[in-house]
Amino acid sequence: PGATDIGPVAQTVAAGRVVVLSGAGISTESGIPDYRGETGSLRTHTPMTYGDFTASEAARRRYWARSHLGWRTIARAAPNDGHRAVAALQARGHLRGIITQNVDGLHQAAGARDVIELHGNLDRVICLGCGTTSAREVLDRRLRAANQAFTAEATRINPDGDVELPEDVVRTFTVVPCTVCGGVLKPDVVFFGENVPRSRVERCYRLIEDANAVLVLGSSLTVMSGFRFVRHAAKAGTPVLIVNQGLTRGDPYATYRVDLPLGRALTALTELLEEASGPSHA
Ligand code: NAD
Repeated sequence: PGATDIGPVAQTVAAGRVVVLSGAGISTESGIPDYRGETGSLRTHTPMTYGDFTASEAARRRYWARSHLGWRTIARAAPNDGHRAVAALQARGHLRGIITQNVDGLHQAAGARDVIELHGNLDRVICLGCGTTSAREVLDRRLRAANQAFTAEATRINPDGDVELPEDVVRTFTVVPCTVCGGVLKPDVVFFGENVPRSRVERCYRLIEDANAVLVLGSSLTVMSGFRFVRHAAKAGTPVLIVNQGLTRGDPYATYRVDLPLGRALTALTELLEEASGPSHA
C-alpha cells in the first residue's frame, strides 16, 4: 500500500512550512502500545467513554485502578528516534507546527516546542467540579498512599499490567477527590465521546491553512478529531504525506504514503535533509 522511499517526503519537508500530525504509532517504539496497530490495546480492552466515566462511581474506580498501574509505563517512557527527528526538523525551521493526538508528552520530552496536544496530556488532572487542574504526579502520590494493599495484590495477579483486574480487586481501590472542592477528578485528556475544546480545534485549522503540506506520522486517522485536518488540507489542495505502517483512513487523501517504522524512516529523513543543506553548526 505504501512506498519505502522517504526521499519525496524529504523534498517536501525541505521546502518548509510543514505541519506534523502525529499519533500513537510514533510512541510504540518507546514502549507505549497504540490502539489499532499490530499489538494495539483495543485488541484486549475497550477504552472508557466520557459518558461512562461521568455517570458511574464504579466506572471511575475501574478507570483509576487501571490507570494507577498503567501510569508507571507512561511516566517512565523515554522519547525515541522518531520524536527526536521531529524536534530536529522543528529546530531546523522546517515545520509550521506540531499537532499530536498523543497524551504522553514525548514530543516535548525530545525538545519539541509549542506542541498542540489535541487530546490533552496524562500529566495533568482536572476537577469536573471546580475546573482546577493539577499535576498527575501529585495525585499519584495520594493514590499510592491510599492504595498500598490494592497495588500489592494487583501487581501479584497482573505483573505486566496487561490483563483486566477481577472486580473484587478493583472494588478495594480508593479514588481520592479534588483537594480544593471535593469534586470528581478526571485525567485532563479527551475521552472517547468527549469533544476537543473548540479553541484548540480552531488553532489546528489555522495551522493547517497556513501549511505547505501536512505530514501524518503514526496514526490510523480513525478518530475524527485528527482525520478532519487531513480532509481539510486535501480539500484545499494542500499535499498530505503519510508515514505509517499499515492502512489509514486518510489514505484516499494522501499525495504520498510511506510504509516504514517511524524511528528508521524519520532518522533517514533528517539525514537526507542534513546532506542536502550541509551541517547546521558549520
Ligand atoms: P492508532 O492506534 O489508531 O494508530 C496507530 C497507527 O500507527 C497504526 O496504523 C499502526 O500500525 C501504526 N504504527 C504503530 N507503530 C508504528 C511504528 N513504529 N512506525 C510506523 N507506524 C506505526 O493511533 P491514533 O490514530 O493516534 O489514535 C489513537 C487515539 O488514542 C489517539 O487519539 C490518542 O489520543 C490515544 N492514544 C494515545 C497514546 C499515546 O499517547 N502514546 C497511545 C494510545 C492511544
